[in-house]
Amino acid sequence: MNKNQTMKKNLKTILIISGILLSVSFSYAQQQEIRPVRLSQISDGLYEILDGRGANGGLYVGNDGVLVIDAKMDKESVDQTIKEIAGITEKPVKYLVNTHSDGDHVNGNQYFPEEVIIIAHENCREEFFHPGRDGSPSIWGDPAMAPFVPEITFRDHMDIFYGSEKVELWYFGVGHTTGDIVVYFPVEKTAFIGDQFFQGRPQLIHSYKGGNSFEHVKTLTKMLETIDAEKFCSGHSEIVDRQAIKDHIGQMQARQEKIRFLIDEKRTLEEITDEFDENEARLVESIYNEIKEGLL
Ligand SMILES: [Zn+2]
Repeated sequence: MNKNQTMKKNLKTILIISGILLSVSFSYAQQQEIRPVRLSQISDGLYEILDGRGANGGLYVGNDGVLVIDAKMDKESVDQTIKEIAGITEKPVKYLVNTHSDGDHVNGNQYFPEEVIIIAHENCREEFFHPGRDGSPSIWGDPAMAPFVPEITFRDHMDIFYGSEKVELWYFGVGHTTGDIVVYFPVEKTAFIGDQFFQGRPQLIHSYKGGNSFEHVKTLTKMLETIDAEKFCSGHSEIVDRQAIKDHIGQMQARQEKIRFLIDEKRTLEEITDEFDENEARLVESIYNEIKEGLL
């Protein structure tokens, strides 16, 4: 190969490599890009709210107004949500239900019109005022935020009627946080369960808010016993069926049993964490602490 050929070959290699780099960075940028909020219809009047910044939510068009489940987390996403709603109905947003207190579900509350009635579990409302995981003060303590903190709370169960249509709000216990609820549409047999289910990544249990993995198992078991939902919509997963929830419970129990066994074997938290996937470290630590505290 003469000098010219070598240069040409090198140039070709450089071009190929930069082409690869360009397409890698392009797809990375695409992943980072926040897609605009869109609605995905489940049945007549019932939708999932997808994309935007924040968790998946829900939307129900009732006789005399719209009920929104979870609020996304910035003004742009809420504005897009309200625009999407206007595209399917002229009815105003009447209720906003927060499934729990995490920012990706409630920070958007402040961008909804003030007259919207915000509903949550009583523990969820309390958690609004707790400091963050890093100890930072809650943004909801500011009096200007008062209209956007849940104003109606319940303990075990609440029904909302739209004429003959009923929306059921259920609390089955502590789990992911202390105030996670289920919004159930009995006619559609569809339940919105917030972050009480994750797929493809470990379940979040917010120990710093009082969440507990053993209670999570009981809470989800009680949910399956109480409501005959067939579709479960959640904050960060596709819609799943009852079997997926049962599998999720089983996986959590298996994880708990394994950690209990390793604790009995006198293994340290670090050694136990090494037995699990890296991304499960936080969950493993929560379960470890729950078992240790139970043993004291
Ligand atoms: Zn979430």
